[in-house]
Amino acid sequence: MTTTRTATRRLFINGSWVEGSGDEVLEVVNPATEETIAEVPQATPADIDTAVGAARKAFDEGPWPTMSPAQRGRILAAMADELTRRRDELVELNITEAGSTRLLAEMLQVGAPIDHFNDLVHRVLPRFAFEEPVPPIYGQGIGHGIAIREPYGVAALITAFNFPFLLNLAKVGPALAAGCTAVLKSSPYTPLEAMVLGEIAEAAGLPPGVLNIVTGDAAAGERLTRHPDVDIISFTGSDAVGRKVYTQGADSIKKVVLELGGKSANILLDDADLDKVLQNVLGGFITHAGQGCALHTRILVHESLHDDLVARIVGTLGFISVGDPADPATMMGPLIREVQRERVEALIASGVDQGAQIAFGGKRPAHLDRGYFIEPTLFVGVDNSMRIAQEEIFGPVAVVIPFADDDEAVRIANDSRYGLAGGVWSSDPLRADAVARRLRTGMVVINGGGGGLNPASPFGGYKHSGIGREFGEYGLAEYLQHKALQWPVG
Ligand code: NAD
Repeated sequence: MTTTRTATRRLFINGSWVEGSGDEVLEVVNPATEETIAEVPQATPADIDTAVGAARKAFDEGPWPTMSPAQRGRILAAMADELTRRRDELVELNITEAGSTRLLAEMLQVGAPIDHFNDLVHRVLPRFAFEEPVPPIYGQGIGHGIAIREPYGVAALITAFNFPFLLNLAKVGPALAAGCTAVLKSSPYTPLEAMVLGEIAEAAGLPPGVLNIVTGDAAAGERLTRHPDVDIISFTGSDAVGRKVYTQGADSIKKVVLELGGKSANILLDDADLDKVLQNVLGGFITHAGQGCALHTRILVHESLHDDLVARIVGTLGFISVGDPADPATMMGPLIREVQRERVEALIASGVDQGAQIAFGGKRPAHLDRGYFIEPTLFVGVDNSMRIAQEEIFGPVAVVIPFADDDEAVRIANDSRYGLAGGVWSSDPLRADAVARRLRTGMVVINGGGGGLNPASPFGGYKHSGIGREFGEYGLAEYLQHKALQWPVG
């Protein structure tokens, strides 16, 4: 919500904490209590221009882009140490601002990104080949040469609300490691974890202007992504906004990396062991109350296992404790805002209208009168053409769809405009592998292996789930340009 009081937080521009130039503030609300926990500036166009100007100057005049990777690595290592030192504080902030349960905050929201950042700084960066030999392979007068990779320039980094710290670090880490300078704008719902990155940049001695952090809503994001001094955009959010960002970057021919939504399928072949799949299937839609881009919210199950699986899921959902995310016993927290809960409820209603049946949930929990909670919800009797099977609900809602054979499972899984993730379960790993290779998605987890926790594996989408990859050397490569240097021989 936008109001006109004085913000309690400030913007991080050119190495200093500054007041926003406008008089509007954004309220940061704890989604479990509905209480306002902080107020941040609604960055004005002038604030965005100042932040981009600082990043442009830091890029054009250095020293950050021209430092060796090892020099940059020393400052980034100091940032990694500082993040590790502040880990507990970040966990509390994540619970309060994003509504994450304690276990999720400790492991996936804060723990994993710090591990990923350390991996980037200590493994990927020292080994990354910034220079590659180019053999003379074609025609006369080509001579000898090398291909070098240079930082792309000024990066506009824009992120979603659901995993704020993870998403911010997944962009800031590789952008800075590559030698880019950056302006980060996180979601207006979750700006506080981004600000910690400004504090650690200060503590680690990052040169002024290399990392700038602004707060603000869609207008701030639009200004940033249209700015002619920005060279590359890395955006994480919905495909609806992703389409706008793609065109907003077009006027000045920016490189655009898009990490967008998903509607991933978890495929249980006829020889899947239901004792092994249950935890994964549940996690696929109740993790962070379903607010995860790569969650497996379409459960495709062989028809011979359908009734047994549904009975097991329904039998377990009754034991999922929904409530205060700060309580270690809570297994599912709230949605981020009332507007999101209303959207989820409208999609649940559409499922009923289109003829699907609710096997569990579908309502607001009766025991909670504050916070944006909704029950974990399971639909059966679903056709893949229904809205609940095609649209990203971003709530704790899954659909179960039976199939007759592997070909039909693949067809249903690929019948989606998204292509972010997926899972395949089979007692025969080679059969699961064969099905996984036929899925048009950026990641497939076979028999629950690895999940999204491997810092070295590429993460990103096919189709409307996006363009480009994050994490490891794949993420670093997005922030680099290839340049050829050639000279005559002899
Ligand atoms: P959103 O698209 O509403 O907003 C994302 C960001 O874009 C916010 O910071 C917002 O302020 C900004 N924004 C809005 N309009 C803009 C514009 N015109 N120009 C520039 N910036 C603009 O997404 P959300 O509701 O915050 O997050 C949920 C979505 O994010 C889901 O679709 C989810 O799947 C997706 N997501 C994807 C990934 C991934 O890695 N693929 C990860 C997390 C979330």
